[in-house]
Amino acid sequence: MIYLDNSATTRVHPEVLEAMLPYLQEEYGNPSSKHYTLAQNVKKATEEARYHVAQLIGCNSDEVIFTSGSTESNNMILKGVLDIFDPLDRHLVVSKTEHSSVIETAKFLESKRVLVTYLNVDKYGRVDNEELEAVIKNLQEGSLVSIIWGNNETGSLNTIGSIAELCKIYNVLFHTDATQVLGKIDVRNSMEGVRFLSCSAHKLHGPKGIGACIIKKDHLGVKTHVTPLIHGGGQEFDYRSGTLSTHNIIGFGKAAEIALREINETHQILKTLESHLVTRLNEYFSEILSFNNDDSNKIPGIINVKFTGVDNEFLIKELGDRVALASGSACSSTKPSHVLASMGLSLEQIRSSVRISLSKYNTIEEIDLFCKMLAGD
Ligand code: PMP
Repeated sequence: MIYLDNSATTRVHPEVLEAMLPYLQEEYGNPSSKHYTLAQNVKKATEEARYHVAQLIGCNSDEVIFTSGSTESNNMILKGVLDIFDPLDRHLVVSKTEHSSVIETAKFLESKRVLVTYLNVDKYGRVDNEELEAVIKNLQEGSLVSIIWGNNETGSLNTIGSIAELCKIYNVLFHTDATQVLGKIDVRNSMEGVRFLSCSAHKLHGPKGIGACIIKKDHLGVKTHVTPLIHGGGQEFDYRSGTLSTHNIIGFGKAAEIALREINETHQILKTLESHLVTRLNEYFSEILSFNNDDSNKIPGIINVKFTGVDNEFLIKELGDRVALASGSACSSTKPSHVLASMGLSLEQIRSSVRISLSKYNTIEEIDLFCKMLAGD
């Protein structure tokens, strides 16, 4: 199987699995229990994991709240932040190319009378910062902006540093879904002004069912109050209750540690693999091929291609026992891509588009073989 669907999920790194196993076997204590070693050991290990996640993102450890993943983090921030504002003032601004866990949450909030603005995007799915500024300059206190850092279907990057800056100038809270960029792009220098961030371990060779919501402190060192999505015993600094998923947290920590250690190398490998893939695709399919993604300002390793006249579902099924490919997000795979639609593609064009997403574990040989298979050689 040639696995080219790394935006959907990635394989667990062997070091991650090794780090997790003791916490499913002998180290089974509950980190919230007190006064005995079995609990204290796990507590120490989860705090180390928190440190590694914080290091990868460029925030403090106590700003990391473990959740079940980005879907939960996105829900928690959008619902929980708007809940703290006066009902009459609530305003949410998102782009049309957000992940379904943001778009569907925005629609839910709209049904609860939150005013939602859906920003248009350019032909590669990026937000226009001038349009954003025009919207937020008139916003009241009580507003939240949520813009995806890098898109899961096209790889397009928004200029998060500048967007965060704008939100700071106009005193509006800013959240970003960084699920697809962590581990592929070094985000640490663009975090100034980002107040909330969502991320997920399984996109960076960690386990599924664990992620984090970053809640950064303000200039006075205070974290914004966010109404929890999950109430209970007050774990995770009172932001997210429930017994910690310790083995998953340890796995996330290890994946983050490796991701940071190898960030430059990973970025470079993905660029090289992508450029080889693009060259090969052009060689084989120049007559029917076009790219829905930009070739710069993007996450390396994610491309979105249109094969005119080809049905994407048919193609993916045909190759399904040898290659893993996607027509778009796995989280909304039953519907035509809202991301490509908002970039201006027709239904017919969407139906002939395929997302190819690489990891650093893919090889040049796999790419060559994949292109041959695609060409029916
Ligand atoms: N946001 C983006 C951009 C994603 O790509 C995904 C995963 N497809 C999610 C959110 C949801 O993440 P999780 O699977 O951790 O819930």
